[in-house]
Amino acid sequence: MIDIYRVLPEEMDDLVIKLGQPRYRADQLLRALYQGSPKNISDLHQIPSSMKDALAKAGYTIGSETEIHRVVSEDGHTTKLLLKFDDKTLIETVLMQYGPAQDKTHPRSTVCVSTQVGCPMGCVFCATGQMGFEKNLKAEEIVAQVLHFARLLRERDEHVTNLVFMGMGEPLANYDETVRAIRILTHPRAFGLGQRSITISTVGVIPGIDKLADEDIQVKLAISLHAPNNELRKKLVPTAGPNSVEDLVMAAKRYFKKTGRRVTFEYALIDGINDSNKVALELAHLLKGNGAHVNLIPMNPTAGGFSRPARKRVLAFQQILRDGGVNCTVRVEKGSEISAACGQLRTDIMQNIAQ
Ligand code: SAH
Ligand code: SF4
Repeated sequence: MIDIYRVLPEEMDDLVIKLGQPRYRADQLLRALYQGSPKNISDLHQIPSSMKDALAKAGYTIGSETEIHRVVSEDGHTTKLLLKFDDKTLIETVLMQYGPAQDKTHPRSTVCVSTQVGCPMGCVFCATGQMGFEKNLKAEEIVAQVLHFARLLRERDEHVTNLVFMGMGEPLANYDETVRAIRILTHPRAFGLGQRSITISTVGVIPGIDKLADEDIQVKLAISLHAPNNELRKKLVPTAGPNSVEDLVMAAKRYFKKTGRRVTFEYALIDGINDSNKVALELAHLLKGNGAHVNLIPMNPTAGGFSRPARKRVLAFQQILRDGGVNCTVRVEKGSEISAACGQLRTDIMQNIAQ
């Protein structure tokens, strides 16, 4: 069985020819998939039944996701969904909306997608890391998260404008399926989202960063650093292994040199752990002079027992970086009251809802 939502437009051209159909059927099929909401091959009403039969006979299906649970934040700006795939795996995916977008009529609507069920990286402060690793998502399962929100938004005449790979899992540890999903989601003949409106966040899989720089996709990259030295970083990211913070800074420089796109360093600020003035100075020293941008994420609560610093501490940390010549912003918090913020996604405790 092959889910038709994992097929790239170029592959669709070959497929229709192989099935003895004229080439224009590929575009018909893509329109039906990305502008409609088919649940089965038989729902593709625009396609002649001979072709639908041929697709089914060749083993093509539509694997549909089921929405098990939906939580909306009080201000209505954040929506978290629990989705179940055909193999019964569960993932969370989040929609974050921000005031009117550039065109003044629609809000900016960013989908935060998951790439794995759980995560093998085990960062000590992250809810996903705490649940262990279950499986890599397939490209069609990543695409399904975006399409699910796109259909929901379509009902109110809105659309997905941005995509961040900051949900459950490490995208560069599931490289091929992540890149396939991005190609589908950005292809003008498929979902057609602008490549520059996509950000991949990685804990620092260096071969993946270098490979991504060589792809013909224009995504933005964020590296989750969390510490200016290796001793502290290894405590927070136990799988940091041989990758030193200096190696990560070098990888970011190579990415910038190859792509012309600056890398953002994400830094989860944890009370009493990595938020002192001394650490801020060390971070400024590490990043100074390479045009880096730091995005501070005041720690969101998880079961790990860490907490966020007081607002005053966050601002003092930011000021030290700025004084040290490093561009630094503080992430606007979205969805923490519904456990939909960075690092709060986990599905192992949701099994009871799904049954
Ligand atoms: N695995 C990737 C992407 C998913 S995590 C990565 O680690 O980058 C997305 C972001 O949320 C990362 O920057 C991560 O460090 C951050 N994060 C994880 N747990 C968090 C928490 N409890 N509070 C704030 N940010 C957290
Ligand atoms: Fe995985 Fe990212 Fe969470 Fe670390 S922070 S455990 S890499 S999802």
